[in-house]
Amino acid sequence: MNEAVRLLSEYIKINTTNPPGNEIAGTKFFADIFQKEGIEYRIYEPLPKRGSIRAIIPGTGKQEPLILMHHIDVVPADKSEWSFEPFSGDVKDGFIQGRGALDTKGLGIMELMAMLAIKREGLTPNRDIIFLAAADEEMDGSNGVGYLIKEHFDDFNAGLVINEGGFALDGLLPENPLHLIATSEKGVCWLELTTSGTPGHASAPHKDNALENLTKALTRLLNEDTPFEVKPNVAKYFAGLAHGWPFLEPYLEDPTPEKLIEILRTSGLLENPIFTAQLKNTICLTVMNSGDKTNIIPAKAKAHLDCRILPGVELDEFVATIKERLGDDSNIEIKFLDSSTANISPDDTKDYRVIESVLKDHWPNGVITPFMLTGGSDSRFFREKGINCYGILPGLFTLKDIDTIHGIDEKISVDNLIKGADVVTNIVKKLCVE
Ligand SMILES: [Zn+2]
Repeated sequence: MNEAVRLLSEYIKINTTNPPGNEIAGTKFFADIFQKEGIEYRIYEPLPKRGSIRAIIPGTGKQEPLILMHHIDVVPADKSEWSFEPFSGDVKDGFIQGRGALDTKGLGIMELMAMLAIKREGLTPNRDIIFLAAADEEMDGSNGVGYLIKEHFDDFNAGLVINEGGFALDGLLPENPLHLIATSEKGVCWLELTTSGTPGHASAPHKDNALENLTKALTRLLNEDTPFEVKPNVAKYFAGLAHGWPFLEPYLEDPTPEKLIEILRTSGLLENPIFTAQLKNTICLTVMNSGDKTNIIPAKAKAHLDCRILPGVELDEFVATIKERLGDDSNIEIKFLDSSTANISPDDTKDYRVIESVLKDHWPNGVITPFMLTGGSDSRFFREKGINCYGILPGLFTLKDIDTIHGIDEKISVDNLIKGADVVTNIVKKLCVE
């Protein structure tokens, strides 16, 4: 059996569902391999069973280190919904099956194969090559990369990080595969809204009803459209798409935000949340809590909003617009549950061009563009330190494949894994050896 296929199959069998994580079992899997290959490594264990592992092939130091990273933990899989055993790691019908195959154990094995190739060929890289398999990405990273950057930054200070976040799509553009290199992530603004009122018996309703006042304010907020904005990184993404999507071509001649919105509206793409989330600060109502008896007016009501904000938007400025839209008279107390501004790595660097050129070598008709994640990944911890991060998953995936990430029946084809390992190895060689 192909080595990458065998290793991924074994790796998937290790159940690293977070919570609880148990990533230490994943670090042992890698430690055994590095031990055998004579590659130096270290395991970090901030809490029992929550571990990350770093391995290094030392370079000459001519360039700052390169980190190849992925996360060990996976999201839960409900066996009753799957058509195969989520942690079997079975290789069947040309696929390696199981939770984590795409997010991100597959990428981890591609990166591992690149490490092994460099070591086995006896190459001396011009920069340290660091392999990092991290814990806790699927929660908030505080026991994984968050911890490592805070407590062991010297071990992870780098010139470049290759991580998850990007992917390659087949079948979206009519004739070309689309390769997305993740260069940025939207900011997070999680808010808790609380109203207080006068409790009482529901048979004599009054106007100081906490729940009704919160509902009215939220209706005002959610009924109002959030304006579209085309940020420079997103403009590049749509210009990239225009190289494979004929109806977007007029945007290349008239690259204005107005033109882009007009084309997206006419084509119906503006109805698709995947695209609209690239173009606005999104606001999503996710939690409401109040009252537990039908005949009692509750004294308090709470709601949670999950908002994702575009690059260049300040949190205070954004919350001020939320307040205004809720209405002045709503008397709502607003508390931050979590927040961060958007993070972004430039796409005009030498390293980005190397990744782009290797993808082009493997898929000559591929359209390659920078991409903004609307969710978050561990890349934010590095970008906050000023370290460039690019997200990739080389291969050819359908939208249906991508849907299995955090969904059901996650799997990766043997072809994608083997080719992906090849592509990552070539990227690493070009970044570190030539
Ligand atoms: Zn994930």
